[in-house]
Amino acid sequence: MPHTHEVTNQVPPPYGHNLAEDPALLAALHRAGAGWAEAELRELGVLAGTEQAAEWGRLANENEPVLRTHDRFGHRIDEVEFHPAWHQLMNVAVEHGLHAAPWRDPRPGAHTARAAKFYLWSQVEAGHGCPISMTYAAVPALRATPELAERFEPLLASTVYDFGLREPLGKRGLIAGMSMTEKQGGSDVRANTTVALPAGDGTYHLTGHKWFTSAPMSDVFLTLAQAPGGLSCFLLPRVLPDGTRNALRIQRLKEKLGNRSNASAELEYEEAVGWLVGEEGRGVRTIIEMVNMTRLDCTLGAAAGMRLGVQRAVQHATHRKAFGTELIHQPLMRNVLADLAIESEAATTVALRLAEATDRAAAGEEGEALFKRLALAVTKYWVCKRGPAHAAEALECLGGNGYVEESGMPRLYREAPLVSIWEGSGNVAALDALRAMARSPQSLEAYFAELDAVAGADRRLDAAVAGLRKELGDLDEIEYRTRRLVETMALTLQGALLVRHGDPAVADAFCASRLGGDHGNAFGTLPAGVDTEAVIARARMVPA
Ligand SMILES: Cc1cc2nc3c(=O)[nH]c(=O)nc-3n(C[C@H](O)[C@H](O)[C@H](O)COP(=O)(O)OP(=O)(O)OC[C@H]3O[C@@H](n4cnc5c(N)ncnc54)[C@H](O)[C@@H]3O)c2cc1C
Repeated sequence: MPHTHEVTNQVPPPYGHNLAEDPALLAALHRAGAGWAEAELRELGVLAGTEQAAEWGRLANENEPVLRTHDRFGHRIDEVEFHPAWHQLMNVAVEHGLHAAPWRDPRPGAHTARAAKFYLWSQVEAGHGCPISMTYAAVPALRATPELAERFEPLLASTVYDFGLREPLGKRGLIAGMSMTEKQGGSDVRANTTVALPAGDGTYHLTGHKWFTSAPMSDVFLTLAQAPGGLSCFLLPRVLPDGTRNALRIQRLKEKLGNRSNASAELEYEEAVGWLVGEEGRGVRTIIEMVNMTRLDCTLGAAAGMRLGVQRAVQHATHRKAFGTELIHQPLMRNVLADLAIESEAATTVALRLAEATDRAAAGEEGEALFKRLALAVTKYWVCKRGPAHAAEALECLGGNGYVEESGMPRLYREAPLVSIWEGSGNVAALDALRAMARSPQSLEAYFAELDAVAGADRRLDAAVAGLRKELGDLDEIEYRTRRLVETMALTLQGALLVRHGDPAVADAFCASRLGGDHGNAFGTLPAGVDTEAVIARARMVPA
């Protein structure tokens, strides 16, 4: 072999670090009274930082799920085949209770502990987070009918991942999905045309279609259909109690921008058997319990993507030299990295605050339930909206290598827009915040109570809060202006949380750029005076 060149100036592989070495995450865990989970979180963080876990993520995405409509003899089977790496990822997630731990063991801080683990493990691979999140979210909706919850909840909360279509109650653990979106409307689910008719034996027969149903190999689905009493929520099993397949046909799988490891299907119901969940005509009210949990996971997923992106960017810049010195020492690169780190930390902090609110609301704190009602809509809108821009900038820190599939950055970039689309796309999330304020003025009071708790600590924050109060006083053309308003609400909340609980350098940089108005439209436009060294240090990978 002729010798052509030495390979130099390439960065070491980004493995062997502990993803739980995340100062904002650990601080949030302890604040929420979930410090008891730190050892488990660290254990998962080590696994998540291994080359093996990264390899599962790569393989699950490069070997996309395949639909098998029929068996070799021509019988309809409607099954989806996954690469073994998908099952490995699911197995770790279920074993660690990311799909249900707070339902099995509802101790104080359980939702925050679960959220922290979900955030860590999502950094390995985002696609399988979808069925994991839906299983977690299905339980509160299912509780609208206690006898269904009694039957299925123990299996949904089991820590055994038992893949394959069999009679649900004969399995060792179950996965749940959600089918709302139809061809004619996804945001406006009241436009659903699927019909549910009472079968006379306590069950209903559903006929119609669903345009998007992810994780179609789930054991049970919560779905919406028009019953005689109006739009209602149903639980549909893939396999009926007598062992036969329910008449739920998978028409095809979507070819998606990202989220390739996960299957997203189009379904048809041909008198499929369903059990009513909650009351007839109250389908939206019932399934919203599920949607609220998955919205939290969208926010956690977006924050997880940012953490992954900034850590990779900092790692690359630490080792890569250009123009005689490491990139991390170039002043403009420091500005970009610090800006990405600030965004990431603000996202992690607010997402975990909402997990804490979930815990405290579950413990009966009414103020926390009100805070969550509004702050979740605000945060879902903003944090998810920031994901794609953050991923693009993090990718660019790796230069051409970041554009190449092997770096993992293209996958992060393709995944990023999704959490903003599902569970209420940008506009719908922003409008939901408006609805929360209109219908529940107490939720606005609870939101301001969170801001006021830190009044006087930072003049830029105080000015932002005062400005926001003024903006809220002007309701002229409010729907047209919703995005601007909700963005300001999100930034002010993030600022308040960072000033109150965050690292002083991060809080100062956040207020100086996001609340002080001295920030350009691109990342890397922080004003002078930011302690970039301290901010970037928090995004460094720490060896396991
Ligand atoms: C990969 C993937 C997986 C999915 N998995 C599932 C699943 O498992 N189950 C499921 O039920 N659904 C699933 N969905 C569907 C998803 O939830 C919907 O696509 C989403 O809710 C938007 O609905 P839509 O596509 O019908 O768009 P539309 O409702 O037509 O909305 C189009 C655009 O209009 C905006 N808009 C809507 N109403 C208003 C308004 N009043 N004012 C201003 N703007 C408005 C929206 O924000 C959006 O930008 C999935 C989608 C994707 C991409």
